[in-house]
Amino acid sequence: MKEMKRTKIVATMGPASGAKETLQTMIEEGVNVVRMNFSHGSHDDHLKIIHTVREIDKEKGTHTAILADLQGPKLRVDEVKDNRVELVAGKEIIIGTKKVLGTEKRISTNYEHFANDVKAGEAVKLDDGKLHLRVVSTNGKDEVVCKIEHGGILSSKKGINLPNTKISLPCLTEKDTVDLEFALEHNVDWVGLSFVRSARDIIELKHIIKQREKHAMVIAKIEKPEALDELDDIIKETDAIMVARGDLGVEVPMQNVPIIQKDLIQRCIVAAKPVIVATQMMESMISDITPTRAEVNDVANAVLDGADAVMLSGETSVGAHPIEVIKAMAKIIDEVERHDQIYYHETVPAESNEDRYISDSICYNACRLAKRVEAKAIITMTFSGYTGFKVSSQRPRARTYCFTGNRKILTLMSLVWGVKAFYYDKMVSTDHTIADIKYILKKQGYIAEGDNIINIASIPIAEQGMTNMLKLSKA
Ligand code: PEP
Repeated sequence: MKEMKRTKIVATMGPASGAKETLQTMIEEGVNVVRMNFSHGSHDDHLKIIHTVREIDKEKGTHTAILADLQGPKLRVDEVKDNRVELVAGKEIIIGTKKVLGTEKRISTNYEHFANDVKAGEAVKLDDGKLHLRVVSTNGKDEVVCKIEHGGILSSKKGINLPNTKISLPCLTEKDTVDLEFALEHNVDWVGLSFVRSARDIIELKHIIKQREKHAMVIAKIEKPEALDELDDIIKETDAIMVARGDLGVEVPMQNVPIIQKDLIQRCIVAAKPVIVATQMMESMISDITPTRAEVNDVANAVLDGADAVMLSGETSVGAHPIEVIKAMAKIIDEVERHDQIYYHETVPAESNEDRYISDSICYNACRLAKRVEAKAIITMTFSGYTGFKVSSQRPRARTYCFTGNRKILTLMSLVWGVKAFYYDKMVSTDHTIADIKYILKKQGYIAEGDNIINIASIPIAEQGMTNMLKLSKA
């Protein structure tokens, strides 16, 4: 019988993975979602990736999701002299908004409101938190004097993090708006929103997507302390979450990240929203052929925590071993998924959820029944994908197969834990459809004669209404 891992892999594209052969092998080895990071690369580069992914999907019958990850209000220093300036602890440095070639005494930033937004005493971190500065004073206009607390070498264009500052920039910058138009024009499945601070950021993005009549769903990247204060509202509005550990570990004390990761995953499972664990998962494989033991543990722990997906960044975009890293990650996932701990995060449906109470109850009980009879598959008929998300969130051991006549969600569902989607538009009658789907799954090797399988659907089937039926039968 065909096996497939339940936890999905997100791979960031770049020069190391753009070639069709490489990407095809990466998909065969376990990549489910291809991520375009709009902090790097041109629209031409991204378009090539989109075309390559779609070609592979067409030729191989795969459904790879495409994630367009918007840069958001990423703050940076400008160019510095000789691409190398030494910041010495104890000394002062001016950060201005008038563009200069940076020196030991003065550097500039692309963040126009910097002097206006910061206050004396606030922390300024440069280059992923490697250099620590503290604001001494600001003229409120265009210059900020900082004391260097922990120095080192600063090169051009490095990121600035301001963990204590209320940044006045909008979540969607001008660049993001242009990138978003491009991504939507090419019908990406998921849009990643960086540096989300409040649920309003997501509402605004969703409004634009709706106006464009596109199907893309939103991933809120959690990397700012403000987002942690508004998690309930953010999770309610978003379609998925990314634990963006790179920036998060600079914006909050790094030792807080492991517990935040676990907390976010738990909340997302309860809310039936997919959650991705991102950044530095297999960092050493950017150059080395094997991961460190600590990296193996990190990936395994994310799977044990219940993440829908684990993500690779530099490892696949610029790394030396883009295929080997997928193989290594898939092996870790396969091994962890043999163990019982990751299954059955059952959440009783809220009675207050009047709209969806019937479908939620069917999904919940399909998973309970699947556990009791050791079913091999839970099969849903879905147009919006809703029941796929719901069944997945109970983390059943049975595979979740979503049959849908909605081509738009075929690839989108590839991010969701344990779910595989199939295109199906022959909604004749409930009996006929169930028998037909059983036949397809058997023929393709996903279920075998005698397996217990569970179907959930809406009857009458042709009305494509709310899921209200559950059936247990033998394959
Ligand atoms: C991160 O900070 O962990 C992250 C995923 O962000 P970026 O988009 O910068 O890779």
